[in-house]
Amino acid sequence: MRCCPSQGGPTVRQAADDGRERVRSASLASTDQMVTNERPESCPRASDRVVVELVSGQVFPDRCRSSQCAYCLPLNARRRSLAITMAAPTRMIRLSLVSNSDDESPAKTALIRIKRIRQALKRMAVPMGEWCYTIEKNPKDTGYHAHCLQTGPYIPQDRLQEACERAKAGIPYINAIKRKGVWTSRYGLKGFGADGYGLKTFRANGSPTEALRINNGRLEHHTRGFYSFDGEPLPVRDMERLAIAEMNANNPKAFIGMRGEDVQRVMGDIGLRHRLILDVNRRLADKLRALR
Ligand SMILES: [Zn+2]
Repeated sequence: MRCCPSQGGPTVRQAADDGRERVRSASLASTDQMVTNERPESCPRASDRVVVELVSGQVFPDRCRSSQCAYCLPLNARRRSLAITMAAPTRMIRLSLVSNSDDESPAKTALIRIKRIRQALKRMAVPMGEWCYTIEKNPKDTGYHAHCLQTGPYIPQDRLQEACERAKAGIPYINAIKRKGVWTSRYGLKGFGADGYGLKTFRANGSPTEALRINNGRLEHHTRGFYSFDGEPLPVRDMERLAIAEMNANNPKAFIGMRGEDVQRVMGDIGLRHRLILDVNRRLADKLRALR
């Protein structure tokens, strides 16, 4: 029998530190690849504003940030992957049947079955940690499975199997996460175009739009404490901000939105640029302090 984390496993603090380290070491270059063929070159709903990185002078087009937008969806999935990495999951769990093939609302059914699995584990007094999961269609039209990332104690396979049987959710497969970092976090989000790391052959039955429909418009579903920092649950958007700030910790960046026509004037004025960098950094520091 494997021991649980309370018997020598990582503390929350260590797990958070590890998560931060992994986020920091994840290079943006290797996370930039997209999987969709139909993705437009820019966000069709963007305004004429741009985002400027004041240190390097790089200019990025505005975007609507909606996951319903084919351009923005993979970028949102990438941000979410970083947040998941920061949460430092230690195990992947595949739940083989969270919804049947003829189900018109697979996400709704999956959420109910997964809730039942967790209730069954609770009744068996098995600690289950926190979960983050995405629903995917099985090949050959045999229903839907959930790809789940787990933080917290090890769940014995036989107990989880019993809980899955009670919830009519098929058979679970538990794997320890050996290949740490963004790769793992993206595995569940690959259907949304958060691709890379040898997953190029995957197609979510056609399109990221379909992956989004299966998941009821969401990138993932998670239990309340999955995104936590120092033991405190954080709203997912804050976890994303924190993950990005940590990733850039050794590589100063200061993003600011402005009108396209103002870029040249601002970037040409060294004094103004410097003041803006200080201002952006101060606001980010205040935000991060508030999170901690
Ligand atoms: Zn967009």
